[in-house]
Amino acid sequence: MARYAATGKVLPMTNLVASAPVDALRSACAGDVTGPGDAAYDAARQAWNLAADQRPAAVVRAALLADLAATVRVAREHGLRIAPQGTGHGAGALGPLDAAILLRTDELRGVEVDPVAQIARVQAGALWDDVLAKSAPHGLAPLAGSAGDVGVVGYHLGGGLSFLGRKYGVAAKQLLAATVITADGQIRRVDAESDPELLWGLRGGGSLGIVAEVEIALHAVPALATGQLFWPIERAREVLGAWRDWAPTAPREITTSARILRFPPDPALPEALRGGAFVVIDGAFLGDAAACEEALAPLRALSPSMDMFGPAGIESLTQLHMDPPMPVPVMSSHALLHDATDRILDELVALAGADAQTGLLMVELRQLGGAIAEQDGTAVLDGIQAGYALFACGIPMGGPVPPEALAAELAAVVATAGEQHAGMFANFTESPGNTELPHARDERLRALRTALDPDGLLLGMHTS
Ligand SMILES: Cc1cc2nc3c(=O)[nH]c(=O)nc-3n(C[C@H](O)[C@H](O)[C@H](O)COP(=O)(O)OP(=O)(O)OC[C@H]3O[C@@H](n4cnc5c(N)ncnc54)[C@H](O)[C@@H]3O)c2cc1C
Repeated sequence: MARYAATGKVLPMTNLVASAPVDALRSACAGDVTGPGDAAYDAARQAWNLAADQRPAAVVRAALLADLAATVRVAREHGLRIAPQGTGHGAGALGPLDAAILLRTDELRGVEVDPVAQIARVQAGALWDDVLAKSAPHGLAPLAGSAGDVGVVGYHLGGGLSFLGRKYGVAAKQLLAATVITADGQIRRVDAESDPELLWGLRGGGSLGIVAEVEIALHAVPALATGQLFWPIERAREVLGAWRDWAPTAPREITTSARILRFPPDPALPEALRGGAFVVIDGAFLGDAAACEEALAPLRALSPSMDMFGPAGIESLTQLHMDPPMPVPVMSSHALLHDATDRILDELVALAGADAQTGLLMVELRQLGGAIAEQDGTAVLDGIQAGYALFACGIPMGGPVPPEALAAELAAVVATAGEQHAGMFANFTESPGNTELPHARDERLRALRTALDPDGLLLGMHTS
């Protein structure tokens, strides 16, 4: 008998071949395969999060959808696990990969939009900007996240919080169908009729199989306003308090984030932002300019020093949050909050405000509520029962403080949650082993995972 190193699960003896998975993968797959001895290994194993030091037994860069199924076959023959990965944005949440094949899907970026059915069919490695490029010309928007280079599949499997979320809910519920290769090597078409249980599981429940393709709902967006309001960081406490008071009263058409944000001295940034420190509110409003004006009035009454909120195209959904446009090293921390009380805001400003000597690049509160909280039994992530999502991050390599100090600051941010702690959201949880996520807690999800993958072949975000 052989065992998967990370799980201790048992494989039949007949499946054990002692070595040479790289050669077997090369024979079985059309895409590039690299192993630890190869010159190309370091580039092949690199995740978007440059702080993640992934060292898999082999890397397959799938060139064809058939490579996904071929990798399952070879992995089983060699007693290895499989870690599917599109971009590596979520790489910080994986456990060790030494007994796994890293299955990269970044070459499988096909997207087809059906403007009549308002559906996008999206291959495993496609990014949000790939979808927006095809949907926006039809006036259609997906529930994209804040960064255009995040993968559509990983985002949905982890839940998906969008700047259209308070109107349309968590993105996981926009997942209408998928083509999935399960651990037994079967290729399954999953939708509400053919396999409602697996569809439920894929909607926020992580890697229950290798997802080759998804179909997601698109929404008609006749009018949109997006952008940012900036104030000097010295006004952080006042602005965060006013935003917190405004957020529960705002219409569902608007979804925002409020952040204490320190821009690096990067020459690529506009001069007005470069090296600057601000409190920033950004987001999206579904509707025309007059209605947007009304919704934003209480925030504009705080006289922002820069006001860049206004009518915008659908593509701006992945630009408005000013996420880094290239891979970076990131360490982060996160908690959901029932409420962002005065005490919490005081403590966050003490940690990250104007007077703090800090490595925290940003401390963010995202506005939840509206449709994001709605429950209908169709998804693992069945609405988020919290008012705000707290997220903080910094750069561990070459940042202003050493990694240990940054880790302590990130922990201190989460500790502010105290009695308001309302759990965690998988996509914002960038470390492994978290027991508060449904991946660890939800008995129905665990039963589904065990039925589909009894040997623990799949190694995914929060399922290591
Ligand atoms: C700059 C930035 C901005 C972000 N903004 C948002 C946001 O606005 N809203 C939000 O909800 N999240 C956001 N996130 C979090 C992001 O959604 C998660 O990190 C998500 O996991 C990224 O998916 P990915 O495919 O790009 O990453 P990957 O690291 O490639 O994948 C993450 C996980 O998804 C699973 N997976 C990926 N592809 C497959 C597949 N083909 N089959 C099976 N499993 C697969 C695996 O478990 C994998 O470990 C952001 C992250 C960053 C770094």
